[in-house]
Amino acid sequence: MDDCLFCKIVAKKLPAQVIYEDDDAVAFEDIHPQAPTHTLIVPRHHVAGLKGLSHDDGALVGRLMVVASQLARKKGLESFRTVINTGPGAGQTVFHLHLHLLGGRPMGWPPG
Ligand code: 5GP
Ligand code: ZN
Repeated sequence: MDDCLFCKIVAKKLPAQVIYEDDDAVAFEDIHPQAPTHTLIVPRHHVAGLKGLSHDDGALVGRLMVVASQLARKKGLESFRTVINTGPGAGQTVFHLHLHLLGGRPMGWPPG
């Protein structure tokens, strides 16, 4: 998608600190980290968010989770949080599906 920030990062048209990529997913460091580890894991192809996913998208969302698991292990995170904000009311600001991987500090519950 031409005007999508994360599509541009995936296509290397915008700089980002990419730490992992494969055929399905790309992971890069968040520009405004909210924890010592704050990595975003996104599908390579444009999906706006968790809203409106179809049955066939299950494998893709699963891939994002598996990448988060592998990155958390690589970073030595004992505890970590994975978050997908959906819709402006939940804090979604970029409408290209992304999984936040947060870790490296204590985290409260419930989230704000
Ligand atoms: P959301 O609020 O949609 O759940 O998450 C969007 C995330 O993207 C935010 O944590 C924000 O800091 C991050 N972000 C916004 N613009 C950029 C950018 O240009 N580069 C990177 N690496 N992260 C960004
Ligand atoms: Zn996109």
